[in-house]
Amino acid sequence: QLTNPVAEGEAEIAFEGALRPRTLREFVGQEKVRGQLQLLLTAATMQQRTPDHILLAGPPGLGKTTLAMIIAQEGDRPLRMSSGPAIQHAGDLAAVLSSLVPGEVLFIDEIHRMARSAEEMLYLAMEDFRIDIMVGKGAGATSVPLDLAPFTLVGATTRSGLLPNPLRDRFGFTAHLEFYAEHELEQVLGRAAALLDLPIDKAALAEIAGRCRGTPRIANRLLRRVRDYALVHGRDADLEAVHAALDLYDVDGIGLDRLDREVMRTVLTRFGGGPVGLNTLAVSVGEESETVESVVEPFLVRIGFLTRTPRGRVATPEAWRHFGLSHPQAGLT
Ligand code: ADP
Repeated sequence: QLTNPVAEGEAEIAFEGALRPRTLREFVGQEKVRGQLQLLLTAATMQQRTPDHILLAGPPGLGKTTLAMIIAQEGDRPLRMSSGPAIQHAGDLAAVLSSLVPGEVLFIDEIHRMARSAEEMLYLAMEDFRIDIMVGKGAGATSVPLDLAPFTLVGATTRSGLLPNPLRDRFGFTAHLEFYAEHELEQVLGRAAALLDLPIDKAALAEIAGRCRGTPRIANRLLRRVRDYALVHGRDADLEAVHAALDLYDVDGIGLDRLDREVMRTVLTRFGGGPVGLNTLAVSVGEESETVESVVEPFLVRIGFLTRTPRGRVATPEAWRHFGLSHPQAGLT
């Protein structure tokens, strides 16, 4: 499971569901992607056909699942949700594909984690709305073609680079989601606070926006911790409450959480600032490489603390400064 600053319980998931925007207009930010999707969906509606397959790429919590739901909703189409890890055999995929109704949107989260055998089946399904099902075993096995209802596949992945080319090529459009700007996050938070009936001032919202790693999911989660704090202490959700609540949950002034800091400190102190290979780094912090690569690193790269080089990960001077450390070779050159 992906590491988050605050654990994800059932209540958190229900809370997320309640806050999800339901239309493209309500969806904050990602201007470019919204425009691209709007055009693609409108054209499909005008021609009365199912929209092209869509790949949504970007770090966790930026709105991929939300967009998949909106794509279905905007076209008034049913939505089926599945995920790569749930598709471990071609048969799992065949069961899903063969039960789709015409025009249905099939969302496959973490599509890069689907079984290889299922991938091949998906190629044919995406291209020709057809699959070949193997009947029988051994020498007597035959493949029986099965026509599928036309559908739109919406795939989500944290790293589009992890997808095999033949799969990537079969999507009509790939949307790259970016981290959100602070003013956009303030909008996300303002909307969430209103839905939660939580009175909160602008300074408090701005503070949370600056400490949520550019990620709406984290913004909403931190807002909830601030609400808890205000509730328990019988006080307003003001700037002071934000400071107290976020300090309690180890979210630092620029939004780095415990794992972010551990990764940075490991690069800085154990490996002298790098270069250090991804796998070595992941083992050192006791996390899976994929988590470090797709959850932790994108934000550290984006804020200019880490660079990816062919020889490994390297800390930047900004990172040394932020952690109050001096480069071991400073002064020697
Ligand atoms: P992903 O699938 O990329 O991990 P989600 O779509 O599950 O991310 O989004 C996580 C949460 O963040 C959702 O509950 C949603 O309320 C919120 N969210 C994401 N993107 C936006 C957005 N653009 N505007 C408002 N809320 C958003």
